[in-house]
Amino acid sequence: MAFEIISKDVVGRVGRLHTPHGTVETPALMPVINPNIDFIPPSQMRKYGAEILITNSYIIYRTKKLRERALKKGLHGLLEVDMPIMTDSGSFQLMVYGEVEIGNREIVSFQNEIGSDIVTPLDIPTPPDASHETALNDLIETLKREREAEEIHKSYSKRNLLSIPIQGSTHLDLRMKSAEEAGRIDGDVFAIGAVVPLLDTYRFSDVARIVLTVKSVISPAKPVHLFGAGHPMIFALYAAMGIDLFDSAAYALFAKDDRYLTPNGTLKLEEIQYFPCSCPVCLDYTPEEMRRLPKNERARLIAEHNLYASFEEIRRVKQAIKSNELFELVEMRIRAHPYLIQAWREIGNYMELLEKHDPSAKKIFFYLGKESLYRPAVRRHQQKVLNVGLDRDEITISSDPGVKADFYLRPVFGVVPAELMESYPAGHAEIYHDVEDEAYITAIEGLKAFLEKHRDRKIKLILDEKWRRFMDEVQD
Ligand SMILES: [Zn+2]
Repeated sequence: MAFEIISKDVVGRVGRLHTPHGTVETPALMPVINPNIDFIPPSQMRKYGAEILITNSYIIYRTKKLRERALKKGLHGLLEVDMPIMTDSGSFQLMVYGEVEIGNREIVSFQNEIGSDIVTPLDIPTPPDASHETALNDLIETLKREREAEEIHKSYSKRNLLSIPIQGSTHLDLRMKSAEEAGRIDGDVFAIGAVVPLLDTYRFSDVARIVLTVKSVISPAKPVHLFGAGHPMIFALYAAMGIDLFDSAAYALFAKDDRYLTPNGTLKLEEIQYFPCSCPVCLDYTPEEMRRLPKNERARLIAEHNLYASFEEIRRVKQAIKSNELFELVEMRIRAHPYLIQAWREIGNYMELLEKHDPSAKKIFFYLGKESLYRPAVRRHQQKVLNVGLDRDEITISSDPGVKADFYLRPVFGVVPAELMESYPAGHAEIYHDVEDEAYITAIEGLKAFLEKHRDRKIKLILDEKWRRFMDEVQD
């Protein structure tokens, strides 16, 4: 297997992707290398934290000098690195310019000949909001090319990997169809394509629905790449939805425009008085000093910062997965922008997916807002309490922890057996006072289900005024 899963949290995972040029730990960020532009040399990318790069095989192919050198020395000789390199096929150019001067067969063969570690077919990226008919026709062609790529790829019988793009525009039924068909092709990586116009316009919810739809149908055993997603602000969000690979052209594109990336959003250099970062660049220069530098030098330094900041966030996401605190990280990160909150709330429509992947054993539960109610730990707790065996006909449930009772009430969780008051999740949960009404309502739903299940027993309810009020408000 090309991919192994090491740790899981939410729908995200830390994994290992094996390529001919070495193993990459995921979630991974692939800096985009433009082979025509001498900006940050590929050989320096490891310094920032990169384990894998991505470059465009179409640009190499159509530039005679690059093509000849790549065919002679290989892709890794051309870029002078020995780390894994994924190649794109020219699909992006197809989306931007409407046509490319190459066929699927030629570009897939070319990527294999120059020794790309992950080969991409020339799929058709249908832009967002295209008509269903257009998106379907494009998808039929994309699938044909993917099957052709599978054949060509096999004939090279090397160890390199094949990426299978998933298209369908903003039509979820087509994204689902694309993912189902992709599952029948012998590929190694799934790549969700044509989302850049959505990300550029902050349509994070649309991307969330696409990601969650795709993750609901494809095998969890394969890594998923969110093509064109490179802003550190969205890594935690989409990694939690199951994305394993990101790629960043943003580090360079934003830098050339004096834009500085942070996990909380983009800052304009002209507006920064203090750098909120301790990377080598931000320690060496003040914003004022940087503004006085010549444009090229400035762009290069901002790009370096952008890379440091992006990889720092990738490491933070991996740590959160390892320590099972990814919910907490996402719920903090989404507060950077209202549309991120909105995007995360899409997870509420995919509880089955969440239930299937999120591990049940964790250490802490920090309630950070009503999005915390989506966590499977809440439903699992309520389900578990319903199945607790009772050996008495008379039981006491109290909202006051100072009263002796068989069960206690907690916002979010509802009924908690006295013996579980020190256990995860309810007993390890930190919840603030005056928590949102939704946290009481969720708890009352659990309580009502419990009372219904034990309606033949004598239950003594000791409720303070607040609990009584919610008890009356929540309909049976
Ligand atoms: Zn910095």
